[in-house]
Amino acid sequence: MTKEQWGALQDQLSSTIGENNYKTWIKPIEFHDMEPGGVAVFTVPTNFIGTYVSQNYGDLLLAKLSAVDTAVRRLRFDVANVDTRPVQPRAVPSPAPSTDLLPGAPLDARFTFDSFVVGKPNELAHAAAKRVGEGGQVTFNPLFLYGGVGLGKTHLMHAIAWELRTHRPDLNVLYLSAEQFMYRFVQALRERRMMDFKELFRSVDVLMVDDVQFIAGKDSTQEEFFHTFNALVDQNKQIIISADRAPDEIKDLENRIRSRLQSGLVVDLHPTDYELRLGILQSKVQNYREQYPALQLDDGILEFLAHRISTNVRVLEGALTRLFAFASLVGQPITMELTQDCLADVLRASDRKISIEEIQRKVAEHYHIRLSDLIGPKRVRNFARPRQVAMYLCKQLTARSLPEIGRRFGGRDHTTVMHGVKRIEELRSQDSQIADDIELLRRALEA
Ligand code: ADP
Ligand code: MG
Repeated sequence: MTKEQWGALQDQLSSTIGENNYKTWIKPIEFHDMEPGGVAVFTVPTNFIGTYVSQNYGDLLLAKLSAVDTAVRRLRFDVANVDTRPVQPRAVPSPAPSTDLLPGAPLDARFTFDSFVVGKPNELAHAAAKRVGEGGQVTFNPLFLYGGVGLGKTHLMHAIAWELRTHRPDLNVLYLSAEQFMYRFVQALRERRMMDFKELFRSVDVLMVDDVQFIAGKDSTQEEFFHTFNALVDQNKQIIISADRAPDEIKDLENRIRSRLQSGLVVDLHPTDYELRLGILQSKVQNYREQYPALQLDDGILEFLAHRISTNVRVLEGALTRLFAFASLVGQPITMELTQDCLADVLRASDRKISIEEIQRKVAEHYHIRLSDLIGPKRVRNFARPRQVAMYLCKQLTARSLPEIGRRFGGRDHTTVMHGVKRIEELRSQDSQIADDIELLRRALEA
């Protein structure tokens, strides 16, 4: 490999990874020299860039380089002048075992704290993640983050990793999914390199394992995970775990692991609410505007989307991206009409079906009465009014007919339902308490 050969690869790299990525990550690095053993050494301006390139583009670079020069077997990134220690691997025990068992998953450059919008549903998880990202004294171990799909678990974990890399470059931070943990483990078993595997995992300062529910039911992986976990906790090393549900809801997980996972701080990311969704959309639009100042977006579009698109942020983002792409392709401002056109399928799919049970449960909860009293025959005002509110919401929020609703309220007649609905309609305009209750319930149900 020569500098000329490296130079000749630039155009290819730029078109493979896109010009922006190329400018940010590849352009700043320089090919330095070959070292014995087929090591291509690069000089990088900062530790950060070296680590990023190695994690995100390492495979690509190796493939391209070895296609030009078959002698290239691996890559190394040295920080220019300041410090010529290899950026990666770090903290490898000596004699250095080969490190291909260790590399973590690449971090997404967009998943930072800056780009994470904080709202009620995620403020606790965010605060805990922030604290861990400071890399100070280990106070809760592990930090266990859980929540449904697309609510920002991976985003927060990457944000912690970025933060640690910036503020505590001395720490060896390893982020990977539970699935990758398993693959590394299986690979080590197959290659009879369990000692390497153990040493490597025990040499990290911060271990982050994403989607840990994946190891449930996989017994030897669980076992190894448990030992790794204990070894690190014993050394007072920070561990951060995510899962799609709470530790005690993960089936086929050994009890000792479950209780280990619960022993630190367990925080959940709640489903997004309207305000958070709107905040996320606004922040995306702001970013987009910086790149495309000409963007024309009618008032009310974001509110519409935040209202109509489910709780999953990924879907919300996808919808917005599609909208921008479409609008810029056809060269039109983003109007309500265009939005409904362009996102027809997404909007249809996320037309959330609210069930009568859900409404009944929420209303009973809201008025602090039992579900059986809400549905049952008693006519005292304390039960009758909430019952009418629930009927009203069923009429408004579901496609059920009056007789059907009546049946679900203890077999009442449809005229009773009609009367209830009418009564609430009247009260709404006279009684601000009722109006507030309904608004609150509607929001909670549509969230
Ligand atoms: P999870 O790992 O919980 O399934 P992700 O972290 O992958 O979810 O989030 C899905 C997408 O939604 C990502 O693109 C992420 O950046 C975005 N996202 C989720 N929550 C937020 C938030 N609070 N602010 C900004 N973006 C968010
Ligand atoms: Mg995730």
